Amino acid sequence: MQLESFLMDDSTAILERERRFLMQTYNRYPVVLARGKGVFLYDLEGRRYLDFVAGLGVNALGQAHPRIVKIIREQAARTIHLSNLYYNEYQGRLAEKLCGLSGLQRAFFSNSGTEAIEGSIKLARLAGHRAGGESKSQLVALQGSYHGRTFGAMSLTGQDKYRKGFEPLLEDVKFVPQNNIEALRAAVDETTCAIVLEPIFGEGGVYECSLDFLQECRAVADHHRAALIFDEIQCGLGRTGNIFAFQTFSVTPDMVAVAKPIAAGLPLGAFLAKEEFASAISAGQHGTTFGGGPMACRVALEYLAILEEEKLLENVIRVGNYLQEQLNLVVERYAAAQGVRGRGLIQGLQLDIPARPLVEQALAEGVLFNSTQDSVLRFLPPFLLQEKHVDKGMRVLKKLLGKKRRKSSGNVATSKSDSAQE
Ligand SMILES: *Cc1c(COP(=O)(O)O)cnc(C)c1O
Repeated sequence: MQLESFLMDDSTAILERERRFLMQTYNRYPVVLARGKGVFLYDLEGRRYLDFVAGLGVNALGQAHPRIVKIIREQAARTIHLSNLYYNEYQGRLAEKLCGLSGLQRAFFSNSGTEAIEGSIKLARLAGHRAGGESKSQLVALQGSYHGRTFGAMSLTGQDKYRKGFEPLLEDVKFVPQNNIEALRAAVDETTCAIVLEPIFGEGGVYECSLDFLQECRAVADHHRAALIFDEIQCGLGRTGNIFAFQTFSVTPDMVAVAKPIAAGLPLGAFLAKEEFASAISAGQHGTTFGGGPMACRVALEYLAILEEEKLLENVIRVGNYLQEQLNLVVERYAAAQGVRGRGLIQGLQLDIPARPLVEQALAEGVLFNSTQDSVLRFLPPFLLQEKHVDKGMRVLKKLLGKKRRKSSGNVATSKSDSAQE
């Protein structure tokens, strides 16, 4: 790849070592990132990059937030991990905080998004069996969705590319097209134990569920006593401008899974549930060694406190609106840009050309973009982003699109996107 020519020896050695010793599951960009501050990252050679990716939605507070650095130092000197055999000071407090914010009643802490999904479908099965016997085990999910890489989460993921080669998966999953109310009604019946959906597709290309569709999901789930489970691992915890994306749509799920930004970069996930579902599980039926440790939970409490005290949700809405306006201007002016989707700081620019080459070229210009679904540029920047950063990103984007102003022939399927990293 020609980009590698700008790498120095140290970076080249790092790339070589990975190529020899790592399973080649990631299609990485040829840059070694070494540190960051706020919305900027720096590579080994000290080159600076403006970050519109935020670790795929993880680094909502950017890099090296002083309060996060301080709390990690402090807690590391006390204890990082304590077994779930014992109580720790922070797990219950974080659960209380998340329950207060969501209006749901109980939490379970995992180490990742995919595990939060696993836990939520295990709970939905228990509650389903309790309500309707063994046969109440069917799951309904959406075509084009993404829920993670473990067998349960992969079985709910409505994209062949993630499933192929790993069959047999969970058998009892039916897929319906997003926003297709007829198909939803046809798929859900008394054997359904859960409907699982992302209110805004993330990896799937930033497509929102319509309000009508979400309300219908709520109604059919109630009618058939199935759990309505929202996967807010990417869109939740502030990215839409609300703490929970479901608050943006005013449809309350029975369970919600969160993860990416929750502990400012430490691995932590959670699912929250209404009591009527949570009461279906008892001691010994689920658990994890690492999940809910004192370090991760304390940092998550700090994350939520910073969101509030620094009024970051207001920033997400203001700068998100500005980003959307600017992206709309790009659509007006550049033939390859087809449309903008999303809200707050989860936005997608639909292109009619492969997005990955643009991401590579932007890297050389000092801006990190992300591509998904071959032809979508996805923006998941830190919540600290300001208008001037948007301007810088748009300058680079326009420069790159300017080279391609001529109407393209619409060949979008030739390049791999970043989805394999999620
Ligand atoms: C990232 C993501 C997951 C998986 O989370 P991991 O922490 O990578 O396991 C699940 N669902 C959605 C919507 C995601 O964006």
